[in-house]
Amino acid sequence: NEIYEEMDPLLIRIDEQQRRLLLQNRELAEAENMRRDFSSNVSHEMKTPLQVISGYAELMKNDMVQPDDRQKFAALIYEEAQAMRSLINDVLTLSRLDESAFGDDPVLIDLHAVAGRVAGRLASFAAEQGVEVRVEGSAAHIAGSETLAEEMLYNLIENGIRYNHEGGSVAMLVGRETEPCVLSEGEDPVECVCVRVSDTGPGIPEELRDKVFERFFRVDKSRSKETGGTGLGLAIVKHAVLYHHGTIKVEGAEGEGTTFVLRFPAA
Ligand code: ADP
Repeated sequence: NEIYEEMDPLLIRIDEQQRRLLLQNRELAEAENMRRDFSSNVSHEMKTPLQVISGYAELMKNDMVQPDDRQKFAALIYEEAQAMRSLINDVLTLSRLDESAFGDDPVLIDLHAVAGRVAGRLASFAAEQGVEVRVEGSAAHIAGSETLAEEMLYNLIENGIRYNHEGGSVAMLVGRETEPCVLSEGEDPVECVCVRVSDTGPGIPEELRDKVFERFFRVDKSRSKETGGTGLGLAIVKHAVLYHHGTIKVEGAEGEGTTFVLRFPAA
């Protein structure tokens, strides 16, 4: 009996360790599955533009294209090459994010200034689409990576322009919140900075508002392809938000545009 009494806590400890190992194994297996899915999705997404490029290039090489159509074919090849370039860039950004390769030394970033810069970079695209982009609010500082913060706002504004209509608009409102906010459950409220990106596009159905942050998830596949989407933009945004210890959610009544609301601890 004494031996049993001594062994009891030991057995409980072994049990606990075994349970933990099982959980770790399950997590590893899930991570491995996700990695495999991602690789096969990337290969699939690469195949389409490559097929178009090699098909058209072959026709041109074999002199099977009328002189009048040459420019059109070259433009199609260029477009598909651009799509591949965007996809590769997004995959690289995601893998840097997965490896937390954005540096451990956070710098002070003014999100209002970043929003202004991004709006400037997207001005000609917005004009092409007939969409007005406005940046409102005032200086709002957070700590983190400037490159990543710029990429994050770029993807959001770019989507706001792409999923919109001629004569529509994208409004960014950046500023410090007047009340402290809770950024993770169970923690104390902190001073925070809020970014709202609202557009006048078709909106995102309520039941898909979590899904749009998954890699390669698209609400409207043809629209995404047509406008040069990679399906990775919002996955990058979500990662970038988490990297900055922030939160993101989607608001807006269906059919009346989309608003992305982001909150970060103020610096
Ligand atoms: P994509 O490159 O296809 O735009 P994202 O990851 O950026 O990929 O977005 C995922 C999907 O979410 C898009 O395909 C689109 O259907 C939807 N979406 C993203 N932003 C908006 C928006 N501002 N308005 C409406 N739908 C959007």
